[in-house]
Amino acid sequence: MVTRKGGCHCGRVRFEVTAPNDLQVCDCNCSICSKSGFLHLIVPKSRFKLLSGGEALTTYTFNTGTAKHLFCSVCGVKSFYVPRSFPQGYSVNARCLDEDTLGKLTVVPFDGKDWEGEFAQGCGKPQDD
Ligand SMILES: [Zn+2]
Repeated sequence: MVTRKGGCHCGRVRFEVTAPNDLQVCDCNCSICSKSGFLHLIVPKSRFKLLSGGEALTTYTFNTGTAKHLFCSVCGVKSFYVPRSFPQGYSVNARCLDEDTLGKLTVVPFDGKDWEGEFAQGCGKPQDD
């Protein structure tokens, strides 16, 4: 396991996330992820720590309202959020991790247009250790 840091563009929102050395991240094609280019690194809450910027976060919800899309109200970047597939944890945007700590990244497609089908197959959960 490796602890990495990341955050939004303006630097107000900063966090730490602990995840395997070789990261598997999901590239989702649902209505919101395809527009934002979000690469999902899903972790339990115990492996995520918000370091700063909580006051700058704005929440956007749609459809079932389960996912809490958190974005920085200053720069507009969604660096992490509460995902519908794993609301007891967080999905971190791998594109927002500091480059010097990123390591190996494998991108796995997630067919978010068929969200129920993908979820039934066990996708959208944290990567095994
Ligand atoms: Zn920002």
